[in-house]
Amino acid sequence: MREYTKLYIDGAWREPEQGTVLELTDPATGEVSGRVALGGEADVNRAVAAARRAFVSYSRTSREERIALLERIADEYERRADDMVEAVTAELGCPRALSRGMHFAAGLIQFRAAAEVLKTFEFVSQRGATQVRKEPIGVAALITPWNFPALQPAGKTASALAAGCTVVLKPAQLAPYSSIVLAEIMEAAGVPAGVFNLVNGRGSVIGNALSSHPDVDVVSFTGSADAALQVSTAAAKTSKRVATELGGKSPQVILPDADLNVAVDTALTWLMGNTGQICSAPSRTLVPRERLEEFLEVLVPRVESLKIGDPREDGTHMGPLISAEQWQTVQHYIQEGLDAGATLVTGGPGKPDGLDSGHFVKPTVFTRVTNDMTIAQEEIFGPVMSVITYDSVEEAVGIANDTRYGLAGYVTGTDLDAARDVASRIQAGYVIINDAEFDWTAPWGGYKESGNGREWGPDGMNEYLETKVVLGS
Ligand code: NAD
Repeated sequence: MREYTKLYIDGAWREPEQGTVLELTDPATGEVSGRVALGGEADVNRAVAAARRAFVSYSRTSREERIALLERIADEYERRADDMVEAVTAELGCPRALSRGMHFAAGLIQFRAAAEVLKTFEFVSQRGATQVRKEPIGVAALITPWNFPALQPAGKTASALAAGCTVVLKPAQLAPYSSIVLAEIMEAAGVPAGVFNLVNGRGSVIGNALSSHPDVDVVSFTGSADAALQVSTAAAKTSKRVATELGGKSPQVILPDADLNVAVDTALTWLMGNTGQICSAPSRTLVPRERLEEFLEVLVPRVESLKIGDPREDGTHMGPLISAEQWQTVQHYIQEGLDAGATLVTGGPGKPDGLDSGHFVKPTVFTRVTNDMTIAQEEIFGPVMSVITYDSVEEAVGIANDTRYGLAGYVTGTDLDAARDVASRIQAGYVIINDAEFDWTAPWGGYKESGNGREWGPDGMNEYLETKVVLGS
């Protein structure tokens, strides 16, 4: 049983001045897994004041000092691997192997990558007598979602600290454990007081107080469009910068010459992985009409052999969804698909046999989906595949782009020139061809309603920098 009664503010663990205690349950069992103190507006004020004070000296640290700090954080992060893995599994219900191989690994890489980026980042450029300088913007509020509870706080924090900003992190209230471990890592790594602060709490309270705070200079927000609108509205009063990373309804274009095993690997990793709770999930699967049967012959046995169950048991591929509410949402969409006339190939409503206590769902595949159906247009955030057939590549590209989102795209095809051509026509921020290895340092972000920000690597650092021109230097 985890018991976290304090917030991390100004270099120390402190009782909230104002707040409540939230009881969290294990998504796999429904049993209480811990209690977490949630702060209030007074705690945000304390944290922002601490970050503002710390900014005076931290913003003037040298590149070398910040590189050394990020490396110390990364070393400590690595030392706390088991704690991070257990935290993610407890809050998200993610199978341990995935908590380690994906969540922990992606969190760690952000600190190592930020140190590397910092080594060569150009803060000053000279154009004749004109000097253009990139300077840390100030206090950064980092608001993160629950589905990548280690990566999201790590990516934002690493970029902000590399840039010379101080931060106040507000993680999702459903998944606060890994952020608490992160704060412990910061403390152990010797991050100066006030440079990193953690205030757990509700979005409507803590998120709103941060977004509207006059002493916060930038908000980096990842989450839903509804909350992003509220953040942007609250931030507008003080004209602060708001970077948003939102949802998606990403296409996977399986080209006529595709290796269907590669196509299915992509779907299992990115759509069924993390129990479908992936913003960039390829949840619209575009298959050439003449290869549909063949595709299903490869896909369905592999989906049906996924081992669903206890995330702490070796060999489990798929854990539960995070909450009862998320379970209801996914059920609602499965019913929507049935009502709209899509054909259910495997999965469907309800819980898998013998898994009644946690928020488990059946990995589900629909065919005969048309792109105007709700299940093809709205983000489900669960392991639900909508297969849409097409007759020409031209038509496939049209369907791929017929969405208000533009976070990611996937292209599977043997002729790489043809695959690259399709990739160049997909309106999305991140396109993966075949089984290309993921690059955690390439700019991450979306087109259209998937947000306006770019995270990670040099682009991620830019979100925390202001531009100053000095003439006559
Ligand atoms: P959410 O919008 O409910 O919450 C995200 C964060 O915002 C939480 O910390 C929450 O407490 C806070 N929040 C909520 N209301 C707020 C308000 N009024 N003011 C300030 N903060 C507020 O989203 P979620 O359910 O946690 O996450 C799922 C969503 O996140 C999905 O749409 C998913 O696609 C998206 N997501 C996007 C990316 C990306 O990189 N683009 C990555 C992960 C998740």
